[in-house]
Amino acid sequence: MKVNRSTIRLAKWVIGRDKEEGASPPIREVECTTCMEKSPAETNQIDGDIWALQHTGRNGHTGYREIVTSFLRSRPAEGKPVGGRDQEQGTS
Ligand SMILES: [Zn+2]
Repeated sequence: MKVNRSTIRLAKWVIGRDKEEGASPPIREVECTTCMEKSPAETNQIDGDIWALQHTGRNGHTGYREIVTSFLRSRPAEGKPVGGRDQEQGTS
């Protein structure tokens, strides 16, 4: 069986949380499920929670949706050079 070159190339890469210098931490928003008003986007947990409690106090709305945006980055798998050829490529 001939191995597809692009499949091997994908196998050399991994993806995960972006840990590059200057990368943004996850951003969290809290959205009211009654009126769809949203908290400001923040990188901490407490500000959205406080916003929701204040929103409940002002409007009586009690349902919320947590929206978290996380940033990912793909990188070469350990021991696999970028653009390097896999010795098994095109065989088997
Ligand atoms: Zn609301």
